[in-house]
Amino acid sequence: MKVGICDAIAEEGVKILKENGLEVVDLTPVPKEELSKHVRDLDAIIIRSATKVRKEIIDAAKNLKVIGRAGVGLDNVDVVYAKSKGIKVINTPGATSISVAELTIGLILAVMRKIAYADREMRTGAWPKKKCKGIEMYGKTLGIIGIGRIGREVAKRAKAFGMKVIYYDVFKLTEEQAKELGVEYRELDTLIRESDVVSLHVPLLPETKHLINKERIEKMKDGAILVNAARGGIVDEEALYDALKSGKLYGAALDVYESEPVKESKLFELDNIVLTPHIGAQAKEGQTRAGVEIAQKIVEELNS
Ligand code: NAD
Repeated sequence: MKVGICDAIAEEGVKILKENGLEVVDLTPVPKEELSKHVRDLDAIIIRSATKVRKEIIDAAKNLKVIGRAGVGLDNVDVVYAKSKGIKVINTPGATSISVAELTIGLILAVMRKIAYADREMRTGAWPKKKCKGIEMYGKTLGIIGIGRIGREVAKRAKAFGMKVIYYDVFKLTEEQAKELGVEYRELDTLIRESDVVSLHVPLLPETKHLINKERIEKMKDGAILVNAARGGIVDEEALYDALKSGKLYGAALDVYESEPVKESKLFELDNIVLTPHIGAQAKEGQTRAGVEIAQKIVEELNS
């Protein structure tokens, strides 16, 4: 059976496919718009976020049984159409949770200690020591919105920094889980009011679109920090810009944006925001885990 790899995955994953007798077709050099010409006899395809698997590709792949996404988001797959054709869509939701959680902590620190700003200024020949007085994580309250796989990993790490951690989620943790993690539940607007740092870890859904808007930002503590390493669109970027510009917020960090890739943005004008280009899952270990896990799942699916 043949597996087409459309976006590069870890070598360890490719090895698993081959060791299990699958023929691997490297489609990574094929321009995305020509992909449908190369999928006719594939039994499975592996993608990350770059390849979009829409109707055209699904119709062209006459033997397709499985679409494997190495990673979490399935926004780039027409899941409903694939399922209607009897094609399974699988992913590796937990493989990169630690990578994203570590980036989140990095972003919180970068904002609090003005690390990115200090680096930028030094490279211009400046020595901005006085302007770089920051704040500590220790003793502050972190409000986690969405205590799923990533939210929990963020909570554990924030506790190690001496933060108080509160959370809001549509599903409350059991008393035991909350105790083990050392977190307390709050209603959304209470969390917003009590947090020194608000970090988002919910999916983008109609209910979470602009969850953080002008009204919610106004309810945040003066001098609070907002971090979004979940999905663009959960934060109203226009309202965030105003709150950073006016000084209502101390700072913010974004890894994800309403429209990606971002080539131009008025957020670039501001010194109190740290911006990264959707790199939450971009850590070697997380990618290896995702590649291995998707390969194992593909082998299982094709053998079942
Ligand atoms: P998860 O499904 O494990 O957790 C999401 C949590 O959000 C769940 O506990 C769920 O109950 C909660 N939730 C859902 N809707 C809600 C709502 N309306 N209000 C409150 N809580 C709600 O997901 P995860 O793996 O932890 O991922 C979290 C986010 O991180 C997702 O948006 C995902 O796309 C994103 N992500 C980003 C990157 C990156 O590169 N920056 C990488 C991977 C995942």
